[in-house]
Amino acid sequence: MYYIGIDVGGTNLVAGLVDEKGHILDKVSHPVDKNMTAEELCAELARLAQKVCEMGAMEYSQIEAVGVGLPGLVDNETGVVIRTPNMAFENTPFRELFQQVWDIPVFLGNDANCAAIGEYWAGAAKGCDPAVVVTLGTGIGGGLVAGGKLFTGYANSGMEVGHMIIKPNGVLCGCGNRGCWEQYGSATALIRLTQLEMERSKDSVLWELCEGDRFKVQGRTAFQGARLGDLAAKRVLATYLQGLSIGLINLINVLQPEIICLGGGISNAEDDLLLDPLRELVRQGSFDKSAPTRLEKASLGNDAGVVGAALLCNMV
Ligand SMILES: [Zn+2]
Repeated sequence: MYYIGIDVGGTNLVAGLVDEKGHILDKVSHPVDKNMTAEELCAELARLAQKVCEMGAMEYSQIEAVGVGLPGLVDNETGVVIRTPNMAFENTPFRELFQQVWDIPVFLGNDANCAAIGEYWAGAAKGCDPAVVVTLGTGIGGGLVAGGKLFTGYANSGMEVGHMIIKPNGVLCGCGNRGCWEQYGSATALIRLTQLEMERSKDSVLWELCEGDRFKVQGRTAFQGARLGDLAAKRVLATYLQGLSIGLINLINVLQPEIICLGGGISNAEDDLLLDPLRELVRQGSFDKSAPTRLEKASLGNDAGVVGAALLCNMV
């Protein structure tokens, strides 16, 4: 059985030919043309799916389904992309438009949910149920597989974990609330914490790491500083890991997943600076210490979105 998964990102469209084990057999990517209308983009994605099918020397009839992962809010039941940040889709009848080019079963998913499916099917969460995948990026995305199925709430907005409130009257979030987890645990939050600490610590090595320009601070800057023994960098990480851990503890105490996988660029940090201290914080805060949740790095990287999209049809 073969599937095609498409990961629709802000800059790139990636389509992969995937087998039932979640292995990618062929992959093709294409830069996003920002001037395309929603209709043109749907047709473009259908052609991209056909292209990767041909690259893998498959007949169209050998493909079970196409799955598409998008940032934002999608409704798989109706086949409509309700809204996406920085993209042309707005209540777009995606499935219908896609099928005008290629008449094949089309499944829609949110990108964070697709990443969770990918890790559950072929990555670090394989064989674990319930499994949670948390992606640390500009914001925080989350996906939950429970009972072998994707959980999305009754109207597709479940598991918006980045917007769980972890601090009353905390930092204002783009969603309008204050104190959302992603204001403390995302890569953006880590950059902000690093910049704040730099203002207080003019002699910190953090300044050298960003060539004296605080706008050059990246998610990894604090980790690099801590590796060099810089105290300011260590303070940044302590604050960041505490915020990150609170959301993880909440997820564990509500869901008791077998595993939580961390994805996104931040998760590439070395274990002694990220996972080890985070595991200890999470252990301390977990209600049931006799049945701990494993905390691991996601293992598929950017491929998780393609694999998860491809296998959506088995999960909804
Ligand atoms: Zn929020």
